Amino acid sequence: MSETRESFAGLPEWAVVLWYVLIAVSVAVFLAGVFLLRRKYARGRSLAPFDRPGTRVLRAARIVLTHAWIRRRDTGAGLGHLAIFYGFLVLFAGTGILAFQDDFAEPVLGWDFFHGPFYLGYSLFLDVFGVALVAGLLVMAVKRGLQRPRRLDYARPDRDEDRRRYVAGDWAFLGFLFFLALTGFLLEGFRIAVDRPDFEAWAPFGWLLGNGFAGLGLDGAAADDARLVTWWVHGVVALGFVASIPYTKAVHMLAGPVNVAVRDERAGRRLPELPAGAKAADVGYGLVTDLSWQHLLSLDACTKCGKCHEACPANATGYPLSPRDLILDLREAAEGALGIRAAMGVGPLHDADATLVANPIRPETLWSCMQCMACVEICPVGIEHVPIIVELRRRLVDRGEMEPLLQTTLETIYDSGNSFGEPKRKRGRWAKDLPFEVKDIRKEPAEILWFVGDYASLDPRNLRATQGLARILREAGVDFGILYDAEQNAGCDVRRVGEEGLYQHLREQNVERISQCDFERILTSDPHSFHTLRNEYPEAGGEWEVVHHSQLLLELLETGKLTPAKRLGARVTYHDPCTLGRYNGVYEPPRQVLEAIGAELVEMPRNRDNSFCCGAGGGRIWMSELKAGDGPRPAEARIHEAVALGGLDYFVVCCPKDVTMYEDAIKTSGHQGAIELRELSELVLESLGLPPLVAAADEEEGEE
Ligand code: SF4
Ligand code: SF4
Repeated sequence: MSETRESFAGLPEWAVVLWYVLIAVSVAVFLAGVFLLRRKYARGRSLAPFDRPGTRVLRAARIVLTHAWIRRRDTGAGLGHLAIFYGFLVLFAGTGILAFQDDFAEPVLGWDFFHGPFYLGYSLFLDVFGVALVAGLLVMAVKRGLQRPRRLDYARPDRDEDRRRYVAGDWAFLGFLFFLALTGFLLEGFRIAVDRPDFEAWAPFGWLLGNGFAGLGLDGAAADDARLVTWWVHGVVALGFVASIPYTKAVHMLAGPVNVAVRDERAGRRLPELPAGAKAADVGYGLVTDLSWQHLLSLDACTKCGKCHEACPANATGYPLSPRDLILDLREAAEGALGIRAAMGVGPLHDADATLVANPIRPETLWSCMQCMACVEICPVGIEHVPIIVELRRRLVDRGEMEPLLQTTLETIYDSGNSFGEPKRKRGRWAKDLPFEVKDIRKEPAEILWFVGDYASLDPRNLRATQGLARILREAGVDFGILYDAEQNAGCDVRRVGEEGLYQHLREQNVERISQCDFERILTSDPHSFHTLRNEYPEAGGEWEVVHHSQLLLELLETGKLTPAKRLGARVTYHDPCTLGRYNGVYEPPRQVLEAIGAELVEMPRNRDNSFCCGAGGGRIWMSELKAGDGPRPAEARIHEAVALGGLDYFVVCCPKDVTMYEDAIKTSGHQGAIELRELSELVLESLGLPPLVAAADEEEGEE
């Protein structure tokens, strides 16, 4: 017997014709869906042409094929999805090979390759990947049905909503695929059970099933009848699945990989400029049609995995925000206004001319965001929550729709150049209390221009660390200077609040003033200033080497310019600031500094790219409390996390805003006396044996 099988064995000619008609219907329904999706995306704003298309495709292929993003922080689910992905892909490719043989290679080219060793290898390959598909589906079913992690329960932090349709959709998707795999194996088993040729042992699972059926007396003509029925059931379900892809949860199979390829690799890290000559109607996102086509596409890529929901510090501590729900709300609005549902008139519909804010997105949801990037960083399909939120905020700010406290702070920054409303000349006052002179870099050159930032310049608690850092630099012989009253708030959080006009004003002034100075590189201890100077100022002509003080301190320790006089011997934990870590990937230098000065570092469970925001970012430090319930605030939750490690001396930070947030949180969380806060510079200073300076800079010196 030849080692092969016949595709349409036992089917009369009319049935084969019917099969091809069904294929045509399925493909037509699929293509109609793709057309409607494309039409929806085309209603979004256009984007500049993509750079490096080849690199983008290769990068997306690597991410999708390795499941590198899907596996992160949930290896079980990642491997389950990997098995489903490759199982489906191989079975789909196997069907394609068969169609190529039957419909082109043999009738057109006279080439029959579907027999012998090729057929045996094909059978084995498809059998193994069919089992992988079933195993992956079972993993996902156990995850959803038995383990039931919170991120999959669809509970919203901001409102009650019946979301059983989401649960039903998830199970329908799993069930569809499972039924497809099951009928595929049954079909194979019945086919083999008819006469059980030995070579079919190359399909080991089908062979087991076939022999099992035969053992139960289901062989010969009975098995052949069962095969025919299963053939139709399996075939129709498979065609139904293909047709359903653009209309169901399966749409992520199309939109996900495309979104990974077209997304902005620096999404959130470098926010988009306003379009040149933007009118009020062009500022930010107000309507669904304001979203860029890529952002509209990304909404369809969401698999509802809930990873962003779980990672979000706002959601975790009771703020009315879940990045997953924000994306799903926008998707519902886009679908109801421009999508397939709108085309079919199936509710709920959304008026394309109706504002997004208030319905479905509430303003307090947008103002709850700390811009920590935890959502963007963990999303397996590369959705850009942070730029989307900023665009929605931009429209609100443009209309003056923001809370009075935020509005006042922005006005204060505009008037005084800092968020404290202090006179400009007070910015460099801290330097006057040092026992040496700090260069005015506007007047004399220096190797390093130290951009100090608002909090490190003006917040009384932060001055200890600022003056400590100055003394360390002096001790190491670093040639540095500051801008004194010419420095302004760098604008990182102003931009993330959505006040793009003020940001550009601050940036323009800082670029102009810094450009007039003579220096080699910029130093800052403020991760927010560090971030925007390094990543967003170059677009306005400010291209300089920018280092964070943790990086410079490490450099000074490694080159022997600083030598600790004693090993610190303290047990500490370290908090990664979002703008230093997730935004810029600076994770190791602060840790290496701690190691170099002899501190024993104990990591909190959430560290490095899984760090937990202090709650200050994205301008939240300038807004009133939006949190519901009396659970801990983000900074308090973080202090609880540190104290739970037991026996720590210090909670170490290297961000001035963290100094403010955590000094307060230690008191309000009830852990005063259990742990103390230290800025990294303060510990380095201590290790050098230099005594702390008694700062007087925070004392009022009368009106300037
Ligand atoms: S940026 Fe942070 S706070 Fe904002 S939605 Fe994302 S995870 Fe939540
Ligand atoms: S936005 Fe991304 S991380 Fe969040 S639920 Fe959707 S796919 Fe998952």
